[in-house]
This record gives sequence, C-alpha cells and structure tokens, in this order.
Amino acid sequence: MSDCIFCKIIAGDIPGKKVYEDDEILAFHDVNPQAPVHFLVIPKKHIRNIMELEAADTALLGRLLFKAQELAVEQGCGEKGARFVINCKDNGGQTVDHLHVHVLGGRFMEWPPG
Ligand code: 5GP
Ligand code: ZN
Repeated sequence: MSDCIFCKIIAGDIPGKKVYEDDEILAFHDVNPQAPVHFLVIPKKHIRNIMELEAADTALLGRLLFKAQELAVEQGCGEKGARFVINCKDNGGQTVDHLHVHVLGGRFMEWPPG
C-alpha cells in the first residue's frame, strides 16, 4: 500500500535497520525501542491488523511467529524470555496499520499493561 510506512520500509523507500528478510517476512529494529531488544516482525503482504486476517493467512502467520521466536533467540532472549505483542486498532494501541509483532526483551516487563 503506497501510504503505509511499513510497506515503504519493505520497498526500501525509507530506511529500516533490518534484522531478517525473506520472500514473505521482514524484521527490523523499532525506531523508538522500549527495551534493550525491540524489533518488529511483519508480513510483506499488507494486512492491516489481526482483525483482518483471513483463513488463507494462517500458514503465513504461523511462519511469522516461528520466525519471531527464532530471531528472539538469536537476539539473546532464549533463556530469560521476551514479550511478543500484537496491538490492534485504537483500543489495542495500534499506530501503524500494517500487521506487526513486537518482540521486546532484555529486561523484565510488568503486567498488565497500562
Ligand atoms: P504499534 O503502536 O502500531 O503497535 O507499533 C508501531 C511501532 O512502529 C512503534 O513501536 C513505532 O516506534 C514503530 N515505528 C513507527 N514508525 C517507524 C519507522 O519509520 N521505522 C521503524 N523502524 N519503526 C517505526
Ligand atoms: Zn503496509
């Protein structure tokens, strides 16, 4: 989508600090990190949010989550763990309308969120 900031990162039109890329998935560091480890894992397909997932997307989402796990381990979060977050729409605190999984690690995180 032409006005989507994450689609622009995928296209290379705006810079992103890449963690991983393949044909269908991109991972890059969050520009405003909330933890020592904070990166985003996104499908290259423009899916606006988790409410707009379709049955045909389930395999892609499985691969996306598995990749998030692998990258979290690579980034040193395997032993102590991490938080995997998907914000959705206004009440979920979503600010970028392209589905993304936040991976946050390197420190303890409180629950519940504010
Ligand atoms: P959301 O609030 O939608 O769950 O998360 C969007 C995230 O994208 C935020 O953590 C924000 O810091 C990050 N973000 C927004 N614009 C950019 C950008 O241009 N580059 C990168 N790397 N991250 C961004
Ligand atoms: Zn997009």
